[in-house]
Amino acid sequence: MDFRYSTEQDLFRQGVREWAVKNLEPRAREIDKAEAGIPDDIVQGLVDLGVFGVTVPEELGGCAVPGEELIYAMIAIQEIARADLSMSTPVYTLLTIGWSYIVNKFGTQQLREEVLPAAAAGKAFVGINTTEPGGGSDLARIKTTATKNAAGNYVLNGEKAYVSGPKECMKLGAPSGHCSLVVTDPSTGHKGLTFMYIPAHLPGISWTVYEDMGRMGLSTGGWLYKDAEIPAYCLLGQEGKGFYHVMEGFNAARVLVAAACLGGAEKAIEISAEYNTQRMTFGRPLIKYEGVSFEMVNDWMQLDMLKLNLLRGAWMIGYESQNPGTFSRKDINKVIATVKCLSPTLGHEAARHGMMYHGAFGYTKETPLEMMLRGIMSYEVGAEGGLNVMRGIIARDLWGEAANPFKADE
Ligand SMILES: Cc1cc2nc3c(=O)[nH]c(=O)nc-3n(C[C@H](O)[C@H](O)[C@H](O)COP(=O)(O)OP(=O)(O)OC[C@H]3O[C@@H](n4cnc5c(N)ncnc54)[C@H](O)[C@@H]3O)c2cc1C
Repeated sequence: MDFRYSTEQDLFRQGVREWAVKNLEPRAREIDKAEAGIPDDIVQGLVDLGVFGVTVPEELGGCAVPGEELIYAMIAIQEIARADLSMSTPVYTLLTIGWSYIVNKFGTQQLREEVLPAAAAGKAFVGINTTEPGGGSDLARIKTTATKNAAGNYVLNGEKAYVSGPKECMKLGAPSGHCSLVVTDPSTGHKGLTFMYIPAHLPGISWTVYEDMGRMGLSTGGWLYKDAEIPAYCLLGQEGKGFYHVMEGFNAARVLVAAACLGGAEKAIEISAEYNTQRMTFGRPLIKYEGVSFEMVNDWMQLDMLKLNLLRGAWMIGYESQNPGTFSRKDINKVIATVKCLSPTLGHEAARHGMMYHGAFGYTKETPLEMMLRGIMSYEVGAEGGLNVMRGIIARDLWGEAANPFKADE
């Protein structure tokens, strides 16, 4: 057992940290205001570091280390989140590298060759769109249908909502798109769901953008499908197995979501420590008061435990991919649902506590803490699964069907 990063992983971490402190941190406020999204030179900087290639195999233009894809991805996202507390750049990056991991795992050779080299080069956005206007937590009840036509392609009709990345898909062009869950057999509940990649630029697809409260550098919006024909080679995995494939994707993406929240929390605690060491009240620095320092210690203790559990989750997925059958789906689910449930809350609290220590200054845009609070909220209200949905997963996988909140009573 070894709790340390390997030399290569640590060198990668240092490289991303140095680049992000110099190039990204000074731009975070601009990114949070920007209408234009993440600047091209920031994306290119991340490409040059190999960040967009960590989940893409070498033969497709990436630099993935088999079994360590999510460890490298987790390291990168933690470092990027430390530098951009608005969460725009980390989320933009984690979506593309997280869902590229799934395209690589479940995609046909044609799809992998089309999407993955572009994603690794920063020239395609890859996202997820399962949520519909009727709800996001209860995936078994989604309504978007895909019917096979005579050519063997899928004809899509329906609507997706609250999906990250529509503007980014339009800006980058083909082959940007989303991994999506659709109904191919309405008579069989979640067994009639199929997972497929929907290239964003096909005829019959239109989109809209919402006005969010945070993560302003990354768009969120909706998609409308009206007789959109999706080529058969865009199928991910097996028809009818979409529910299980998407759950695997969510576990990978949730590792990276937790990484973003913990990177942000770590930075917020550092900002608080620096400020509280120099800010004097009643003849002492704030950090000398136990009402302040013990609260900071509570945040730090949670951060330290969650970082370890996050590493465990990323490692378990990689180890299982190389040694199938080592861990059950439930083993992995519980670890990852734990970090996805607790990390956004810690990020929120670390930002809020930091704002409190800064007093009135904390309520201004002179500190990055308020934009962190707004960005992290996206992961509390729902993105990649709401907090209670994580608790429901843990209850179900610990105590069985009696505790399963996702199954309607007969
Ligand atoms: C900024 C942002 C970006 C997003 N990006 C994407 C994206 O890229 N792709 C995508 O597909 N979706 C995306 N989403 C949507 C997200 O996945 C959903 O918000 C989430 O799945 C919850 O769905 P919902 O919002 O419809 O809430 P609902 O499903 O209606 O749930 C409402 C609340 O009830 C809670 N709840 C639900 N069921 C239970 C239960 N059984 N027990 C207790 N509590 C329960 C939920 O946790 C939630 O707090 C994004 C959301 C946000 C805010």
